[in-house]
Amino acid sequence: MVGPFQMMIMIFFLLYLPLFCLLPIILCVKRAEKINQNKIIWGILGFFLNYIAVLVLYLLPEQTEQNTKQCPYCGEKILIAAKKCKHCGEWFEGRK
Ligand SMILES: [Zn+2]
Repeated sequence: MVGPFQMMIMIFFLLYLPLFCLLPIILCVKRAEKINQNKIIWGILGFFLNYIAVLVLYLLPEQTEQNTKQCPYCGEKILIAAKKCKHCGEWFEGRK
């Protein structure tokens, strides 16, 4: 027999698991992908810290806007400081 107390626990876990375990991980991974951070590390942080990790990630400055340029060879976004394209492997300057 399932009493009202067990029902409450079931509903609690059905809401708790997606909202406090899965959703922060998804938000962290998506945000980490957008700002060029490590997706796996931020996914783990999202699991342990939940929305604290999400908040920290959303406060971090985006690397995609200010610090990147377009690769003249493949058109992908790369860091301005980069001397070699991480996407196509072309060198820009100072090749030895
Ligand atoms: Zn390239």
